[in-house]
Amino acid sequence: EARRLLPVLREIADEVGPGAGRQGRVADYIPALSGVDPAAFGFAVAGVDGEVLGVDGWRTPFSIQSVSKVFSLALALAGGGESLWARVGREPSGNPFNSLVQLEHEDGIPRNPFINAGALVVTDRLLTLTGDARGAVLDLLRAESGNPDIDFDPDVARSEAARGDRNAALAHFMAGYGNLENPVAHVLEHYFWQCSIAMSCRDLAAAGLFLARHGLRGDGSRLLDRSAAKRINSIMLTCGAYDAAGEFAYRVGLPGKSGVGGGILAVVPGRCTLCVWSPALDRHGNSVAGVDALDRFTTLTGLSVF
Ligand code: GLU
Repeated sequence: EARRLLPVLREIADEVGPGAGRQGRVADYIPALSGVDPAAFGFAVAGVDGEVLGVDGWRTPFSIQSVSKVFSLALALAGGGESLWARVGREPSGNPFNSLVQLEHEDGIPRNPFINAGALVVTDRLLTLTGDARGAVLDLLRAESGNPDIDFDPDVARSEAARGDRNAALAHFMAGYGNLENPVAHVLEHYFWQCSIAMSCRDLAAAGLFLARHGLRGDGSRLLDRSAAKRINSIMLTCGAYDAAGEFAYRVGLPGKSGVGGGILAVVPGRCTLCVWSPALDRHGNSVAGVDALDRFTTLTGLSVF
């Protein structure tokens, strides 16, 4: 599959790659992210058979940031099951990822697991289940990508913590409603470190393959049942691109999750995963060239969920 699709990635990279960085802005809320080259571009495809191929900067590590939320959600559902949904919803928010407003209206229950408040609840759940949420996420990413060298970026993690007032406010607010099981400082630390993981398009596309394989890991064992895998894909489709999730679904037509490091992981269930990276973001926090590349991919190949 990857070999068959590689020429399409090449064609898209030749069209989109040279313009990468001309529109949008690199995330600048922490110095460790603002120093990245806005014109960088990488694109990888992983077939369900496990073959991964890509073009341009597809082997360059970047900060995965919110893409990590897919993996923590998968682990929390795999380990703790459906009871998670008593503590976090699954509706698109229509608000920025770090918004406080909806939490007050909904008694400390975040709208979905991909806005920051929801991801903090998921990390909290994973902490209770494993004792080491960030370690569990890192282990899953290493195992599924086959790359044991993947690691946290301590500079990114520490600067997230230093600029973490907004996330701390969200966590304290939810703790006030009794929606956190672990101490706020502990939950925040695991969340920041989980977001700081550095990976390439190659490794992220490979690591996400269980979502294209209806829950099966690379070694053939089951991480999620079919239904849970479907549900994560559904939430990626409806909530995976911040408050522009509707626009992403409209243009791309695939489950996807973006991060402010400029990466986007997308899934074609039963076929392949795609990971694209380009650090210049639109005002919602999605990679401009990344969304453009995925839009062209589904248009050129007809591979979307619709
Ligand atoms: N660590 C970032 C934050 O919580 C994640 C941002 C993102 O990728 O959405 O602010």
